[in-house]
Amino acid sequence: MALISYMSRIQFDFGALRLLPGELALLGVKRPLLVTDPGVRSVGLVERALDGLDGARPSVFEETPSNPTEAAAEAALALYRGNACDGVVALGGGSAIDLSKAVGLLATHPGSLSDYGVRGGGSARIGEIAPVLAIPTTAGTGAEVGRAATLTLKSGRKIACVSLKLIPKAAICDPELTLSLPPMMTAATGMDALSHGIESYLSTSVNPPAAAIALDCVERAGRWIEYAVSHGDDREARWQMLMAALEGGLTFQKSLGAVHAAGHPLGALGYHHGTLNAILLPPVLRFNASAVPEKIARLKAVLGLAPSQDLADWIEHLTGRIGLPTRLSELGLDPALIPELAEEASHEHLSETNPRPATAADYRRILEAAFR
Ligand SMILES: [Zn+2]
Repeated sequence: MALISYMSRIQFDFGALRLLPGELALLGVKRPLLVTDPGVRSVGLVERALDGLDGARPSVFEETPSNPTEAAAEAALALYRGNACDGVVALGGGSAIDLSKAVGLLATHPGSLSDYGVRGGGSARIGEIAPVLAIPTTAGTGAEVGRAATLTLKSGRKIACVSLKLIPKAAICDPELTLSLPPMMTAATGMDALSHGIESYLSTSVNPPAAAIALDCVERAGRWIEYAVSHGDDREARWQMLMAALEGGLTFQKSLGAVHAAGHPLGALGYHHGTLNAILLPPVLRFNASAVPEKIARLKAVLGLAPSQDLADWIEHLTGRIGLPTRLSELGLDPALIPELAEEASHEHLSETNPRPATAADYRRILEAAFR
């Protein structure tokens, strides 16, 4: 079964931020809530976004945590309601964008986030949400065109809300905004983009247009990430990485696989999502390789690898070269948690589209290999 669906309006160019007033007008948003975080504020991007907006200054929620939470969503929602807002502008990385989707959902739906989790059948309960316009300031998550919002509930449990209705109505992708991204964030978020291309391409779901986008994502991210990390002020490298990230988000709809399935329970412990994916890619690729040899060969070709080179080894070396850890042990993970994490990974919905079925025992071996 192929379900093919692209529904975002995307403005992509240097300086595209100046289009914000016009894009809000198209959406009919007059009183937006701007959702951002202190890091984005500190590099002056909030002021730059607000400068173009004439009339009333929008309300600003800038306490987005590094991993979005239900508590933050409710705090932002209170501000949204208190100021009679009619739409959300997300300015930041995946966390600010996911938080904005949650605010847009809660502003228009009864109950709490836990009513809308994909695992509890909540997707069917998600109708039209308040309009969300996303402006990414990192090049990685692809959340600006993605249909998922992942948050940590007050209970500590992670919840993924997944619906076409959660896709931001518009995205403004301005590579200029990523020029100030520090090397470690460039590396970690860039590896997230690369992992989206690779995992989506290898996933079992059938969607040739999405597969083509995935290959283009892999080519750009794989060829440019190292240069973007070492030359953060290079405009071409920033353009390429932001495009790779966008393509990673567009190709999501072909689904993902074991890297993200194993990464989600680890992410609930507070580790950076992109760093986890960089560490998990090599052992998952070694696990998957025998199931999809032609696809692995295709990935190697777009990355410019020789047939004799090993893709997993190449990614592991790349991860090390751009300054990221290559082992879970370097993150300080307690290895005693691995059996439980493996069990959780095997129940993740993304595991269902991994090219080789993975059991809890398989995830245990993958996590052990990623730990050493
Ligand atoms: Zn990801």
